[in-house]
Amino acid sequence: MADRSPSLPDLPILQFEEKIAETVEKNPVVVIIGETGSGKSTQLSQILHRRGYTKSGIVGVTQPRRVAAVSVARRVAQELGVKLGEEVGYAIRFEDRTSERTRIKYLTDGVLLRESLSNPELSEYSVIILDEAHERSLNTDILLGLMKRLVKIRSSNLRVLITSATLDGNKVSNFFSDCPVLNVPGKLYPVEIVYSRERPTSYLESSLRTALNIHVREPEGDVLIFMTGQDDIDKLVSKLEDEVRSLQEGSCMDAIILPLHGSLPPELQVRVFTPPPPNCRRFIVATNIAETSLTVDGVVYVIDSGYVKQRGYNPSTGMYSLDVVPVSKVQADQRAGRAGRTRPGKCYRLYPSTVYQDEFLDVTVPEIQRSSLAGSVLYLKSLDLSDIDILRFDFLDSPSYGSLEDALKQLYLIDAIDEDGSITSIGRTMAELPLEPSLSRTLMEANEYGCLSQALTIAAMLSAETSLLPGRSKGTEKKRRHSADLPDGSGLGDHIQLLQIFEQWDQNDYDIGWCKENNLQVRGMLFVKDVRKQLCQIMQKKAKGTLDVRTSESRKERRDDYRNLRKALCVGFANQLAERMTLHNGYRTIGFKSQLVQVHPSSVLGTDEQGMYPDFAVYHELITTSRPFMRNVCAIEMK
Ligand code: ADP
Repeated sequence: MADRSPSLPDLPILQFEEKIAETVEKNPVVVIIGETGSGKSTQLSQILHRRGYTKSGIVGVTQPRRVAAVSVARRVAQELGVKLGEEVGYAIRFEDRTSERTRIKYLTDGVLLRESLSNPELSEYSVIILDEAHERSLNTDILLGLMKRLVKIRSSNLRVLITSATLDGNKVSNFFSDCPVLNVPGKLYPVEIVYSRERPTSYLESSLRTALNIHVREPEGDVLIFMTGQDDIDKLVSKLEDEVRSLQEGSCMDAIILPLHGSLPPELQVRVFTPPPPNCRRFIVATNIAETSLTVDGVVYVIDSGYVKQRGYNPSTGMYSLDVVPVSKVQADQRAGRAGRTRPGKCYRLYPSTVYQDEFLDVTVPEIQRSSLAGSVLYLKSLDLSDIDILRFDFLDSPSYGSLEDALKQLYLIDAIDEDGSITSIGRTMAELPLEPSLSRTLMEANEYGCLSQALTIAAMLSAETSLLPGRSKGTEKKRRHSADLPDGSGLGDHIQLLQIFEQWDQNDYDIGWCKENNLQVRGMLFVKDVRKQLCQIMQKKAKGTLDVRTSESRKERRDDYRNLRKALCVGFANQLAERMTLHNGYRTIGFKSQLVQVHPSSVLGTDEQGMYPDFAVYHELITTSRPFMRNVCAIEMK
């Protein structure tokens, strides 16, 4: 692999190559703080490659987001003139594009955690770069704790770099015994901040008006608009397309409108990296992915709605929430900064300056303080860190005692740990499956009941579920829109329906046309097929090829399967059961968290009036949007 392509961009970080190399050579841990777009994600790995670190091992770079791992790996392969998947590759859950020859590997933080289960010293790696640490993803926070241990064990042959656009460098440096902090100053041009006088009633309408004003009044330069999620983005893109088209007829500058979010197919994502033709303005309508994860060049105007969609978890109720919440000051500043990369820019904040000052938190709450920790605690238990009591693991910011307690209770209920809190053999197997603990437990139980094949299908369908059926995205309460010919779950609910959909596709020889006819997203279905195959292989490997993963043919067998599957789900989701409350048109959750909830409108069970509600049900998750809902509900019999 070549050292450097002659056509490389001149990014700020490259001026610090010598200093970085020197510091890394002398110190096992180095923190690098640099403005978004300074080249941390794409250049650091290449600098270390040039300095010989790829001779003794792999340079691994973790990313909190799947899309960033793929996009940056693609870019680095291109810069080095190699084929993606060979010397430069990436690994994200259920997708590994690396080979024996891979020397620079981009991977999600979750994948690195998983690798450390089979190789606790991560001995393949000569360097581990924890990129985008400011995102404070749950997995990056756990990796920070693990790296602290690992550098002690491998101090002579492992280098750890932690990079961030905004993180308080001193805090991380203190965490790593005062390791050096390198600051890479970026060249940011001044950005004029324009505040709204008041908060608009609709940030979508207000963004639209602001964007059109820019298009008519301001000189050339791309516009980056921050929305909260795919729904908002789709709406704004379609409105902008209509409005801009009518302006163009009045001889305005040309315009291209591009959405940018995590579930966009990769070939559409990369469009934002192609510069526009002359006399053409791009409008990029993005989620907070464009804040720091992906750098879009050419942006001169930013429109900041001031909101972000954030997932939360309440350990005392077991309830997830997906709320549109105000951004933090740090996020608002990052968003504004996107306007000043090429020349002086402007940021339109759709809120008054008093809101920024008085209402926004200084920094975003780290994910570890707003997540269910069952999966992470199981992971840490399975590492057998004998010197560590899980409640005292060395975290950069500790989770609450309540959420750790909640995790331990959940794990105990599904037999992953015993009364003393020690991991069981069931727990160990669960930890090795790349699924959340409840689903892993369901698979293991299904194996006992002889319906593993069907359970694998359900697990795979649930892994991709939001991208299968239009209208099933987690935050919305839209009804499912799908073809009348799709199976209906035989009155047993969503899990069985997901199984039946896949089986029907199987019977149609995995025909792509069939997916389209039935309004199922082709990419999502292909992903499910692949995930199912991988899960099958992992399970087969564990059982040394003795598992029965055939699909059952006869109708009678199928009915038995459904009963067995529901039994297995009850074991895996033992603390996620609910009893019908006719008076309330809904359910009461059973277990140590009792509360009233409704069936999510996306469920195939429909409404209570349709008479399909079972007396008892198991649910995949509780989520609060406008009200508390159970998502993915399956009927069970309590006998
Ligand atoms: P940082 O990590 O410091 O935010 P990056 O290394 O991600 O910076 O980005 C450096 C430059 O590389 C930016 O100009 C960005 O637009 C460009 N870049 C990053 N990824 C891609 C890609 N997939 N295709 C084209 N350009 C890219």
